[in-house]
Amino acid sequence: MKKKQFKTESKKILDLMINSVYSNKDIFLRELISNASDAIDKLYYKSLTDRKVKLDKDDFCIKVNIDKEARTISIIDNGIGMSEQELDENLGTIAKSGSSLFKEMNEKNKDINIIGQFGVGFYSAFMVAKEIRVLSKAYGSNDAYEWISDGALGYEVNKASKKDVGTEITLLLKDNNENDNYDEFLEQRRIEGIIKKYSDYVKYPIIMQKEVSSDDKKKKPQVKDETINSMIPIWKRNESEVTKEEYNSFYSDKFYDFEEPAKVIHSSVEGQIAYNSLLFIPSHAPYDYYTKEYEKGLQLYSNGVLIMDKCADLLPDYFSFVKGLVDSEDISLNISREMLQQDRQLKLIAKSIEKKIKITLEDILKDDRSTYEKIFDAFGMQLKYGIYSSYGMNNETLKDLLLFYSSKEKKRITLKEYISNMKEGQEKIYYASGDSIDKIDLLPNVERFKDKDYEVLYLCDYVDEFTIQALMEYEGKKFANVASESTDIDDPKEKEELEKRNKEFEDMFKVMKEALPEVKNIKFTNKLKNHPVCLSTEGNISLEMEKIMNTMPTGENVKADVVLEINGSHPIAEKLEKLYKNDKEQLAIYTKILYNQARLIEGMTIENPTELTNAICDLLSK
Ligand code: ADP
Repeated sequence: MKKKQFKTESKKILDLMINSVYSNKDIFLRELISNASDAIDKLYYKSLTDRKVKLDKDDFCIKVNIDKEARTISIIDNGIGMSEQELDENLGTIAKSGSSLFKEMNEKNKDINIIGQFGVGFYSAFMVAKEIRVLSKAYGSNDAYEWISDGALGYEVNKASKKDVGTEITLLLKDNNENDNYDEFLEQRRIEGIIKKYSDYVKYPIIMQKEVSSDDKKKKPQVKDETINSMIPIWKRNESEVTKEEYNSFYSDKFYDFEEPAKVIHSSVEGQIAYNSLLFIPSHAPYDYYTKEYEKGLQLYSNGVLIMDKCADLLPDYFSFVKGLVDSEDISLNISREMLQQDRQLKLIAKSIEKKIKITLEDILKDDRSTYEKIFDAFGMQLKYGIYSSYGMNNETLKDLLLFYSSKEKKRITLKEYISNMKEGQEKIYYASGDSIDKIDLLPNVERFKDKDYEVLYLCDYVDEFTIQALMEYEGKKFANVASESTDIDDPKEKEELEKRNKEFEDMFKVMKEALPEVKNIKFTNKLKNHPVCLSTEGNISLEMEKIMNTMPTGENVKADVVLEINGSHPIAEKLEKLYKNDKEQLAIYTKILYNQARLIEGMTIENPTELTNAICDLLSK
């Protein structure tokens, strides 16, 4: 067969591997053993679900052989094998693990050291090998094929011969150089150590041949098989016996994440439903987390046998960031995807898992605030979206997991903390929304609340205000936007006086409104200290929501009911009153300018900037 070229992305990863300066090359063995174990899983699963396939679990194993003279290491499995086409497709193209590594690297421009913690699958073998041969016979086929490559110059797939089904991978080690000694991978003890360190939990025996010394020195030394790994899956071990390194290594190996998880949740549940679960809360969002490509789900095992890689039904959408696995004897091996959705046991497990995640998050929030904040930075948006998108149905689960920035504390707080800090007689939870904390902090409406010593929550994520609206209330306290008409923190006497004044100038406001048909109302206010004007809204739609909803592709044009409020004690108020008496035309121009200024303060765009600047220039030239 003619030499074929690797796909472009694969080539880049291969270059990294071949020229790798990464010091921890050991992980190549973990990757190959993990592939072998997956391949056995696939065949074992077939034998359990298909009565025609007769195989005994005890026959499955992974062998690791060293040949010092030939300078090779072989990894041999009796798993499902690969056909000619599979050899070509699976090993010629970058696989899942590799492609996510690649994207992470592109995105964050991380250095090459992440390879070690991350694993890039099969290709990592090129860190130690100058040539790799993969001899494989697929289950159900009579033919075997061999894939050969030196990494750099492409690969070949040729017909070959092999007795048993399965795969045999042979690495011809690179030559030693002044920096690296590849001979160490020919040492039995060294390889055993690597297997114990990274692959101890692999479910099938990893067997090496060991020389048995004989009393009779003249006889050739005998060899015998020895199983290196303990074979107990990590999630079936006692939590107290598993080290942090083991959890982390398992996590990065299985879930392709190069950063340590923020939290490991290992549990063994008994009773009405029995299961083991090992869950991880990642410490950062995967590159594709907030895209349609991201697939949620936990691995589902039935008594140690993997039956599904991403069982979506085990996780609610708002906890879709959680990674991990569930192993239960109560789930039937033969269950189909369709039946699984109806499965009562699975539903019970999912409920229990959800509760566990919720409680764990609450505990982290209570005991380890900085870790929680990190988790919230990555996934808070998803939690908020969980409230908003379910129209409040998930409020109970999620409301105590939210954080919002506080004007008083100058950091993020929970709603519970807000309530416990409330002033005497305070009836509502006040919030303001805008593009950023700094911008919100400068809003005239916010200043007024701060002056009266009220705590205000600053909302700057686009889902925030929608979330607040879906929540409706927290512990009986309703939410109120500081820019909305309904907030009422003013002294009743002052209020009365203001109402009187507004009534008095009703006709003037009518004239002004004719110049500004887009606003619902214009009036004097006493809530502004130094600022001449501000905008507020009547009804449920705030200015921020109007901004957001109009950027959505639904095509609806949403309008907030806007009120232009003018500072009654600012000289501009008097000026307006004068103009109303003497020059109604000029009053209209002033009104437009004031309105546009208020929009600018709110961080909104103005419809006709030329008109505004011309009007201001006219005034300046007078
Ligand atoms: P990943 O394991 O992340 O999918 P790899 O590059 O390690 O990526 O492997 C690519 C694919 O090659 C695997 O998904 C699997 O289908 C196949 N493969 C690798 N090793 C074996 C093996 N020993 N037996 C059968 N298939 C294998």
